[in-house]
Amino acid sequence: MSRRHVKEFRPDEALSLIIADREGKSMRCPSCGGGPVLRTPCRPGEGPSVAGRVSLECPACGRLVAYIDRTEATAIR
Ligand SMILES: [Zn+2]
Repeated sequence: MSRRHVKEFRPDEALSLIIADREGKSMRCPSCGGGPVLRTPCRPGEGPSVAGRVSLECPACGRLVAYIDRTEATAIR
């Protein structure tokens, strides 16, 4: 029983965080109101975002969501 207990966002909270992240916004935690939510990897300062796995974690309540960022999503804009 050494597995760390990981809390996750509710689906609607996770979705709003992912949408905000794709638009390049930082967002407060929709669950506890703390924030800002930490992004891993860090957002690049300039240039297009890199495709790959992105984790968003609230440092206040420890909730976590991960999603796969795709370059196609930014190419459409
Ligand atoms: Zn929180």
